Amino acid sequence: MDQRYQRQVIMPDIGEQGQEALLGAKVLVVGTGGLGSSILSYLAAAGVGHIEFLDEDTVSVSNLNRQILHGNPDIGKKKVESALETLNRLNPTLHYEAHELRFTRENGRELIKGMDYVVDASDNFETKFLVNDLCIEEKIPCTIGGVVRWDGQLLSVIPGKCACYRCVFTDIPEPGVMKSPSELGIIGVSAGLVGILMATEAIKHVLLFPNDDRLINHMLMVDLRSWNFTKVEVKRNPSCTACSACK
Ligand SMILES: [Zn+2]
Repeated sequence: MDQRYQRQVIMPDIGEQGQEALLGAKVLVVGTGGLGSSILSYLAAAGVGHIEFLDEDTVSVSNLNRQILHGNPDIGKKKVESALETLNRLNPTLHYEAHELRFTRENGRELIKGMDYVVDASDNFETKFLVNDLCIEEKIPCTIGGVVRWDGQLLSVIPGKCACYRCVFTDIPEPGVMKSPSELGIIGVSAGLVGILMATEAIKHVLLFPNDDRLINHMLMVDLRSWNFTKVEVKRNPSCTACSACK
């Protein structure tokens, strides 16, 4: 076993078997921005063997307060290109696939097919609902989260087995109802922390941790300003348009 993972392999609930599971896992991360930066870094550091990610944007200087996969020399570069370079520097022993595109209804299904887990690191509700809906249709577990200012939240979905993102939020908010981080602002530590929590969910899934130890039927709300971390129980909606028919 690679010495790189020695500190986690000696943990009784990981061991060589758990590390083999991580090295054999395929995870897709939707977005390489603030959330994606910490999700991808920690999945790579932990040795998730096959990591795919996508983004259509290029790096701009206003990204750099939070998108730590990218640095000053990367301004103007494609984010997927810069992300790939950083991840290869962190852990060159893994298989990475970078897709320079936006997650859409047309390409999303093909992107998630064959994955063991999907992590939504997008910055908009449209993509979050789409990731949720396609993951339910393809029966692929996922974690969906979001951040703004000092606040974040996340939940995980095992299709047909627990509440989904749409059970909780129903539909994309009307334009103007929910403002985005570009309007309200965001501090990098919020994206960094919530991204780490989301990566933890993916790792726990691969390690077959019990649902009670995960954010299944629960949403974790974090407030970095007041230090309130609240785990809220969420319930499946029997008439959810995404998951009510999913068994
Ligand atoms: Zn649902």
